[in-house]
Amino acid sequence: MKDYWEFHDECGVVGVYAPGKRDIARGVYFGLHSLQHRGQESAGIAANKGGKIQYYKDMGLVQEVFSDEVIERLQGDIAIGHVRYSTAGESHAANAMPLVVYYRGGAIALAHNGNLVNARILRRQLQDDGFIFQTSIDSEVIAALIARNIKDSTIQQAITKSLEKVQGAYALVITAGNKLIGVRDPYGLRPLCIGKNEEGFVLASESCVFPLLGATLIRDVEPGEMVIIEDGELKSVSYAEKEKRASCAFEYVYFSRPDSRIDGVGVYTARSQCGRILAREAPVAADMVISVPDSGTVAAIGYAEESGIPYGEGLIKNRYVGRTFIQPDQRTRELSVRLKLNVLKGNVQGKRIIMVDDSIVRGTTSGKLVKMLKDAGAKEVHIRVASPPVTDPCFFGIDTPDKNKLAAAVHTIEEIAEMTGADSLAYLSVEGMLSAIGMDSDKICTACFTGNYPMELPERDMEWEDEPWMI
Ligand code: SF4
Repeated sequence: MKDYWEFHDECGVVGVYAPGKRDIARGVYFGLHSLQHRGQESAGIAANKGGKIQYYKDMGLVQEVFSDEVIERLQGDIAIGHVRYSTAGESHAANAMPLVVYYRGGAIALAHNGNLVNARILRRQLQDDGFIFQTSIDSEVIAALIARNIKDSTIQQAITKSLEKVQGAYALVITAGNKLIGVRDPYGLRPLCIGKNEEGFVLASESCVFPLLGATLIRDVEPGEMVIIEDGELKSVSYAEKEKRASCAFEYVYFSRPDSRIDGVGVYTARSQCGRILAREAPVAADMVISVPDSGTVAAIGYAEESGIPYGEGLIKNRYVGRTFIQPDQRTRELSVRLKLNVLKGNVQGKRIIMVDDSIVRGTTSGKLVKMLKDAGAKEVHIRVASPPVTDPCFFGIDTPDKNKLAAAVHTIEEIAEMTGADSLAYLSVEGMLSAIGMDSDKICTACFTGNYPMELPERDMEWEDEPWMI
């Protein structure tokens, strides 16, 4: 289980192409609702009517940001949207997306999920060339490059030329002129899929968006592919050499909604298999399997089914803990575990409990939960983690803490078990996770579990956060 300061969610993007449909922004609004789990900090929608782009964005949850009146005002044939949790750039309304930039020939709106590993280097180069940046997000670097390159080219050529310079993770939805464009980085690190409905096309970070919009999943955007939707048709272009595919393993074990499919794999099935394989790899005698809700639940059910030990509710989640309480100071951290989760005493008293969590990052939450369960009378608490130890930070859009704050980077499993007060603790193996997802190790990024990054990371970029202007 991760709290907001531990393992920040990333971003979610949606694009809707539906010429002639009134209320297009409402479709994007619904789509963003379905992606709210990917970012709760800010939300925005940009609507494109004949190349003229209107937008609205602000801090807050989707339902807090958009009133009926705002949705009504955002008319167009194409619209894109974004929900954000800051993984690069500070938490500020100026950093909300979509980004809308104007160039001599028109306007472009862009929504980005992912992190660029060379954004800061590119930003310095652009600043040296006289560019002025309005935000501290690396997505603005992409927007600036496109605006610079579009002078004598089509939007498609300008995007291709711009992305030649960019390294890192990106799933982009862009609208300009009469086009909706989707782009996925050459590794496919961040997800992006294509849906089709009667009115046109939908692009989204996750396929869970589609049923609400009456759309059916056609396929994922391929690594290094750009899809251009115009005049009711979808055209595909390979804008870059496809690198070694590296779909993010964490999308399966934690981030994505269980009802999504990513790169042909159902998230629910992958997560349930993680639990089943974990039960085979790390069995323990117990009376009940419980989950750390919600993200540990599917794996916990899988563990229970495989082990034959009954699944039961042991921790009840308060679903209405607002962001007011999600403040990264020590006092609120302590309080917030109790605010978010409460023990169902009658269910755990006198029992040997297996507590299944999706992951352990810092390890602080797990210890508090073990204590709460034992205080409520649990005889034994065994932690089973449905993913491998997180040993390395992510540089591709998932905001992990520094390596020295990752429990598994600085402690042995035995030490972590001791720190949490659990009677035993075991993680799923990397091989077990790959087998659960059903992908070969050369098609998936497992860097936060193995340290094997799919690309080289520029040194200078990693030192950037010490620079004063970022504060
Ligand atoms: S490092 Fe981890 S979280 Fe980041 S993209 Fe790779 S698997 Fe996903």
